[in-house]
Amino acid sequence: MAITKDCALLPARKINGGPRVMATYYTDRKCISATEKINTNSSNMMALAPNTSKKRETVCIFGTGDFGRALGHKMIQCGYPVVYGSRSTQISNLIPKDAEVLSHAEAAQKAAIIIIAIQRQHYNFLTPLAEILRGKVVVDISNNLKLNQYPESNAEYLAQLLPGARVVKSFNTVSAWALQSGALDASRQVFVCGDDMEAKQMVMNIVRALGLTPLDQGSLLAAQEIENYPLQLFPMWKFPFFLSLGLTAFFFFYCLALDVIYTYIYENSNFSFFIAFTIPNRICPVMALILLGLVYLPGVLAAIIQLYRGTKYRRFPDWLDKWMLCRKQLGLIALAFASLHAVFTLASPLRSFVKWRTSKTIISQALNNKTEPLDTTNAWLSDSYLALGVIGFFFFVLVGITSLPSVSNSVNWREFRFVQSKLGYLTLILCTAHTLVYGGKWFLSPSAYKWYLPNIYMLSLVVPCAVLVVKFVLIFPCVDKPLTQIRQGWERNPKSSEQSNHIINKSAV
Ligand code: NAP
Repeated sequence: MAITKDCALLPARKINGGPRVMATYYTDRKCISATEKINTNSSNMMALAPNTSKKRETVCIFGTGDFGRALGHKMIQCGYPVVYGSRSTQISNLIPKDAEVLSHAEAAQKAAIIIIAIQRQHYNFLTPLAEILRGKVVVDISNNLKLNQYPESNAEYLAQLLPGARVVKSFNTVSAWALQSGALDASRQVFVCGDDMEAKQMVMNIVRALGLTPLDQGSLLAAQEIENYPLQLFPMWKFPFFLSLGLTAFFFFYCLALDVIYTYIYENSNFSFFIAFTIPNRICPVMALILLGLVYLPGVLAAIIQLYRGTKYRRFPDWLDKWMLCRKQLGLIALAFASLHAVFTLASPLRSFVKWRTSKTIISQALNNKTEPLDTTNAWLSDSYLALGVIGFFFFVLVGITSLPSVSNSVNWREFRFVQSKLGYLTLILCTAHTLVYGGKWFLSPSAYKWYLPNIYMLSLVVPCAVLVVKFVLIFPCVDKPLTQIRQGWERNPKSSEQSNHIINKSAV
């Protein structure tokens, strides 16, 4: 995963030429999105025209709980005769009308495929049925309550209980509610894994017949990962979210100290109301700029590492690999902060403090009978910084929109890379210039250093300026040429990269 393949370095993670396999500026999920597009289309076609003319094989479902009933209902709709295996053979109103309900043993004998819609902790009851289930396709659909709850996956546990059965893991990522309500648009993909190819094909045929898209995940070893999948809580958002939260809290207290507490102590003025508007409107642009810088920082770090090692065939450190994978999320949070800053700025003239300050200036000019002449330098500065901000925000939105799967799937590799990399850097340059023009005049003024601390605008420039300076150095032909060669597969010392990968593989084993 962390091997330094060329595409892993680029903001746009696409494979050039041929059908696109993986695409990220921004993410690792796109490999699914790209295939999803093709598969969703085909599954749509199948959903519209299910092949009901062919007599379908009877399917047995163990368990008449929520999931068993919802799946049985959907299968009957798609033309499958369904027989339930249950502890109680009494027919209730909840059970789909055309389904039969028998004992587990009787039901299993009627079908070649048995779907186990029962929680893992009750699987023991299956042991006496091992002989009846020998040679049958047994589908494990179960989920757990916690990640890696058991040492082995539920499907592997089922395979241990039923050594003669052909166990397949599937359907665990589809909810009973979605099956019942038909709200399957967002979750059409159904992961399938198993050791028996024929059994897996039989399950995939059912998945397709239900209008869903099977995704073959390989052998039963993949079951644990498939079972963990529905339990993950925005895994790619954790680092960006906590980083943003931490930085926001830091800048909030920083501004509170300099803008409210300092002025209260040394100027005896109460500016506590800054907490509601001024401070958030200071933090938002600062966060947007820093996070945008952090989107492009791993790319330049990776380039430096590759130049230093003279190869792309060695793994990046884990932290860099993870950082690269969450650039989309960092970028989107940055865009959210930038949008908030735009809204705050537009609402600013409505503030009573701003109205008071404007009227105070006018009244003092009237009282002194003196009009301030227009300061053209200031006018240039303020117009320039506003224009840079507006254009920077425009490109920021453009880059954000292109990261949406629906948009990025409709552009080719070069277009995507152009927007994410070239326009992304242009956005970074414009936003950095916006901040520099706004705060530049203060940088040399001693009054800007309350308690000897720099203004947060100065702090916000550190990451983006560092990224832009390194990027500037990297585009020099004497640096760019060897880097391009490395990314095309050239190695300074091929033996050393082989050795280090061998060491990494051994330690991983
Ligand atoms: P459920 O409503 O609790 O139903 C489970 C069924 O298991 C019961 O109705 C019962 O059927 C049977 N059962 C209960 N105790 C048993 C025992 N001691 N021995 C034998 N059978 C027993 O659960 P569910 O929501 O349908 O979920 C079933 C499985 O599907 C679980 O493994 C779950 O992880 C998985 N799943 C559920 C969903 C969902 O949205 N609900 C989504 C994906 C996967 P009888 O009374 O007919 O015997």
